[in-house]
Amino acid sequence: MRHPCMTCGACCAHYRVSMHWMETDAAGGVVPHALTEAFGPHQAVMRGTWEAQPRCIALDADIGRHSRCSIHPVRPQPCRDVQASWEHGAASPQCDKARSAHGLPVLTAADWAPSISVVLVEAVDVPEPPPAVAQMAVASLQA
Ligand code: SF4
Ligand code: SF4
Repeated sequence: MRHPCMTCGACCAHYRVSMHWMETDAAGGVVPHALTEAFGPHQAVMRGTWEAQPRCIALDADIGRHSRCSIHPVRPQPCRDVQASWEHGAASPQCDKARSAHGLPVLTAADWAPSISVVLVEAVDVPEPPPAVAQMAVASLQA
């Protein structure tokens, strides 16, 4: 199953992503400072997310088709906090609102169910019995 966020990206093009300025690498954190701008005395925002039509500068996406965060390992804490709906057994209002705003259906529990093809592969992918066991099985069938 492909993770639904990899074909979405809606939340990265819907919300203002603000963080304490200490999260940026200019202040000892990890978020690239060059991709942020000041937001008040103690905060920074991801560039592009404070626009009338927000879209994070770090987002590499065609919303609803494919999506990746180009700074995923060092993304800000608010991005880490957003949960995809039903990934952990509950709806996520942030996820639902962003997807709806981009005309995408909200996720359901069914989106996290393993596909039937994966189940079938797991069902048939059992190890071969050792030759001795196989021979014993044949012998008992012939007895
Ligand atoms: S809106 Fe939801 S599904 Fe889409 S990228 Fe964000 S968390 Fe993932
Ligand atoms: S930093 Fe990455 S996860 Fe956060 S809003 Fe930008 S693209 Fe999305």
